[in-house]
Amino acid sequence: MQSLGLQHSNIYPLKSIKTTSTILIAHNNISVIRQYQSLFESLFNIEIATCGHSALNKLSKQNIDLAILNVELPGLSGFSVLKRFNTHTPFNSTSFIFMSEATNIDQEKTALALGAIDYINTSGHTQITFNRVKNSMELIEQNKQLALSSNVDALTGLANRKMLDDSINDEFEKSVRGDYALTLMMIDIDDFKLFNDEFGHLEGDKCLTQVAQTLKLFEQRNSDLAARFGGEEFTLVLPYTNSDGAKQLANKIIEKIQALKIRQSKLATHGFVSISIGIATHNNGIHFNHPEKMIEDADSKLYQAKSLGKNRFVD
Ligand code: GH3
Ligand code: MG
Ligand code: MG
Repeated sequence: MQSLGLQHSNIYPLKSIKTTSTILIAHNNISVIRQYQSLFESLFNIEIATCGHSALNKLSKQNIDLAILNVELPGLSGFSVLKRFNTHTPFNSTSFIFMSEATNIDQEKTALALGAIDYINTSGHTQITFNRVKNSMELIEQNKQLALSSNVDALTGLANRKMLDDSINDEFEKSVRGDYALTLMMIDIDDFKLFNDEFGHLEGDKCLTQVAQTLKLFEQRNSDLAARFGGEEFTLVLPYTNSDGAKQLANKIIEKIQALKIRQSKLATHGFVSISIGIATHNNGIHFNHPEKMIEDADSKLYQAKSLGKNRFVD
């Protein structure tokens, strides 16, 4: 068995706290896997596989940030694992590193041409192997943080407009392909200008954040998304929710916002901060031919809810 020759005390720590990133280590030799596992497990979640099929299975079912694959794996080679995974899951965000015990220029060319971020000859100095993996993982971590911050609204912590647009387009396409209902709710805080005028912008920001966090509670399925559309307007994207389900949910949301009991301006329509909701449901009687048409429809329903007295929904 090849030893990595590293002691824990020799290893410069990556970060002071464990991250939420996951590494998959796939090698035919379980002892080699265990050595890598002991090096990285205080910093990352570790998944292991001892053959190509098991590696592919884990990649398909779990969120793996970095896959470290031995080129020679029983069943499916490391390269075949990457090719099949990219074919079946084209928009995945997993990075790949290949390991080989002997330098092989053709293998190295293939690995990099397939999009791997590194090819490591593990017969060299083991500290180099460790540090190359460590450095790659730090870059992956930074990219994840950047991706996250570019998708999040800084004030409320909800998904921002960019993420919302991506989600609507994606979920619309999926609901057409899968022929299931998709609901979109446009949600607007009532008389928010009056709230700001009476209590000031800072209180207004607090109120926005409280409303946003309450809406986030209604992300009940993995695919549900609560987002800030802009200003004091929010959107809920709810795949697999038909119009009956949407109505029940809209009632609950309106009640939950009322239950916050945030005092409104004396001039406002209602005593506590309230919201109005416009609902559009696709593939449930009505078929929209474009996601933008859903937004337009939900918007016009929202307008109706406002003219009917606010603190209500229209579908
Ligand atoms: P309606 O019931 O018809 O929706 O009335 P409204 O007053 O809520 O709507 P209007 O569009 O007249 O005003 C929206 C207000 O929301 C004005 C704007 O200052 C405020 N607003 C938008 N974004 C923010 C923000 O980030 N923070 C704060 N404090 N206020 C915001
Ligand atoms: Mg408003
Ligand atoms: Mg508005």
